[in-house]
Amino acid sequence: MPGSFKTEAVVLRSIRYGEADRVVHLYSATRGRIGAIAKGSRRPKSRFGGRLEPFFRLNLVLYEGRGELFTVTGASTLDGHARLRSNGPALGAAGRACDAVLRLLDSGEPNPAAYNLLCNYLGLLDADPAVTSAPGAALAFRLKLALAAGFSPELASCASCGEGEHLAAFSGAAGGVVCASCEGGGFPLSEEAHRYMVDALARPLSEAPAVGQRVAAQADRAVTETLEHHAHVRLRAAA
Ligand SMILES: [Zn+2]
Repeated sequence: MPGSFKTEAVVLRSIRYGEADRVVHLYSATRGRIGAIAKGSRRPKSRFGGRLEPFFRLNLVLYEGRGELFTVTGASTLDGHARLRSNGPALGAAGRACDAVLRLLDSGEPNPAAYNLLCNYLGLLDADPAVTSAPGAALAFRLKLALAAGFSPELASCASCGEGEHLAAFSGAAGGVVCASCEGGGFPLSEEAHRYMVDALARPLSEAPAVGQRVAAQADRAVTETLEHHAHVRLRAAA
């Protein structure tokens, strides 16, 4: 049914379209992934100003017509994340976070956990760019996003046979840690990397554990391979 509705949303990507328009990919609180066109938004005096850019959290009024794209008819800023925008590492981390949401969450169903996680991470990047753009928090975001999307790796016991001891490897195909007898298709996972992933999932994002490069690389590979095998998406390296 054609009509207008309001929702809060984060701009994931913004693409120039035609003479003066813009197509925005949004992650919304109430409708999940949304694509919308903002007509005339690239004109100097557009009422949308510069707010239809990545990482803006907005209150939107959208018109749902018969086409695939909604039309933006109103937009006000909830948070523009200005500090994040002026910090290179934070900008990179925010870009990778939005890219991961784009690839992993393509449904029009609302996912409040994923939406709140994205808003929380962008807020943290804005408040404390140095800490939160570090691999510890970036990977914790990715693990929590995988969990919110329903693809969290199995970390408590062997993903192949259920064994609780000697978990020294990780298998993306099995979807989690694997024991010594099942490690065939996996790669070695250090105790630190295993503990980091468990801690990162258990703690709030603002208290994500810090990680060194070796642990970060293993944890990143574990999440990336799990998502490749089970969600069929390939993400850019997290950090
Ligand atoms: Zn096993």
